[in-house]
Amino acid sequence: MGKVTGFIEFKRDKQPYRPVAERLRDWHQVMLPWPVDKLQKQGARCMDCGIPFCHQGCPLGNLIPDWNDLVYRDRWREAIDRLHATNNFPEFTGTLCPAPCEGSCVLGINDDPVTIKGIELTIVDHAFAQGWIEPEPPEVRTGKKVAVIGSGPAGLAAAQQLNRAGHWVTVLERDDRIGGLLRYGIPEFKMEKRVLDRRLDQMSAEGVRFETDRHVGVNVAVEDLRHQFDALLLTGGATAPRDLPIPGRELAGVHFAMEYLTLQNRRCAGDGIADERFISASGKPVVIIGGGDTGADCLGTAHRQGARSIHQFEILPRPPDQRTSDNPWPQWPNVYRVSSAHEEGGERVYAVSTKRFVGDAHGRLAALEVVRVETVRDAGRISFAEMPGSEFTLPCELALLAMGFVGPERPGMLAALDVELTDRGNVRRDANWMTSTPGVFTAGDMQRGQSLIVWAIAEGRSAAHGVDRYLMGRSDLPTPVA
Ligand SMILES: Cc1cc2nc3c(=O)[nH]c(=O)nc-3n(C[C@H](O)[C@H](O)[C@H](O)COP(=O)(O)OP(=O)(O)OC[C@H]3O[C@@H](n4cnc5c(N)ncnc54)[C@H](O)[C@@H]3O)c2cc1C
Ligand code: SF4
Repeated sequence: MGKVTGFIEFKRDKQPYRPVAERLRDWHQVMLPWPVDKLQKQGARCMDCGIPFCHQGCPLGNLIPDWNDLVYRDRWREAIDRLHATNNFPEFTGTLCPAPCEGSCVLGINDDPVTIKGIELTIVDHAFAQGWIEPEPPEVRTGKKVAVIGSGPAGLAAAQQLNRAGHWVTVLERDDRIGGLLRYGIPEFKMEKRVLDRRLDQMSAEGVRFETDRHVGVNVAVEDLRHQFDALLLTGGATAPRDLPIPGRELAGVHFAMEYLTLQNRRCAGDGIADERFISASGKPVVIIGGGDTGADCLGTAHRQGARSIHQFEILPRPPDQRTSDNPWPQWPNVYRVSSAHEEGGERVYAVSTKRFVGDAHGRLAALEVVRVETVRDAGRISFAEMPGSEFTLPCELALLAMGFVGPERPGMLAALDVELTDRGNVRRDANWMTSTPGVFTAGDMQRGQSLIVWAIAEGRSAAHGVDRYLMGRSDLPTPVA
């Protein structure tokens, strides 16, 4: 519970970041570690509220008050054990999670919530620094073999759980490197890839086998996998992007966000990408269409590439600064947020819709035609009405489409396995995380739709329980998500 009077004595501190002028000159992570003594005071703010709502805010069911208290009392070894009991990869969530737990922290009712995410990250960073995080191979092997298809956080969490339960686990990834969106979506400045590689080393040492350039349903036949493995777990993500089929979409200079982010992540990894294949914002007026986190990642990337100007469009109106009465605690607060990329510059434009990409004589993007819109709410449905006379044109030589994802890719693996889909186009599963095809399981964005890392880890852990139970008739693995 921290210190009895801690929440009265200490104020919430801000996560330290590198200065903007410095960080814009490189690709290194912008977040800095908390000084440990300051962080312990943050842990002391946890106030023994009786019913810790943060538990229900965190999809993993992280035991937050326990480790807040342990940090305050300088008992770091116990803190990492308690943290690892519910989360395979606290360094990913401690760096990248939007922290729904903090939205439901009881202290947040009339004060600033506890800095839960910062405490989580410091515990795991400290444990790595002390050499406490070591491979944990199983003592006994079951002889069962599981193929995990897709190496994002859902696949990795499931693989670690299943391997530790004694099964032989092979992770098959179509890309040339392991990690899913942690590798090629999330930019280096948000989380350096060495953080991911450190965990992959641990998993390899535990006995997990990683195979890259293995595109299941394309260069790996699903029938072969069905023969070679006792169970398959599909964690291929929801990678089909939402398009904007308006006039001019075919112009050079209009790209999906993931095309753009992947190329920069590859360059950061040292891949030699020819300039004619690379998508660069350097010297260009840039517009990012989509006001969410993927858009913010494009924004930070375009800053570092030296864009001339950057606008980020959002079709919805600007969120309020404080919770509104229809968004009470402990719900996730739908409020205006400023990410590290927003701190670095660019202009956020709300309540606008792009009508046309305008090209020059060479088929290259030169401008966008835009109109302001009003949100219309009717019986829970939202639509957007154009405001007459509000049209304007904005110079633009690079437009990045960051409007979310429509679901998993259907051709290839899903078609070959003939798994049922939900009405929303995600893979359907039963209560044991099995698809409509016996012995084939699913977790993460592939069954949930594009979501968050914390959900992917939680689902990977739960699906591992389902697979283990299918193989062994029972399972002791945890199930954070029903
Ligand atoms: C740009 C971007 C930034 C984001 N930032 C954040 C953030 O800061 N915080 C946060 O919480 N969430 C963030 N998210 C969301 C988060 O990354 C995802 O919810 C999470 O990665 C989903 O994990 P997953 O394991 O289900 O799938 P993914 O991470 O999508 O991994 C799926 C993997 O499966 C592979 N695959 C697919 N089909 C096959 C096949 N047939 N054969 C072999 N391999 C296959 C893919 O190549 C991919 O590597 C972000 C998303 C994007 C797009
Ligand atoms: S994983 Fe996310 S929701 Fe859970 S405790 Fe950490 S920051 Fe909070």
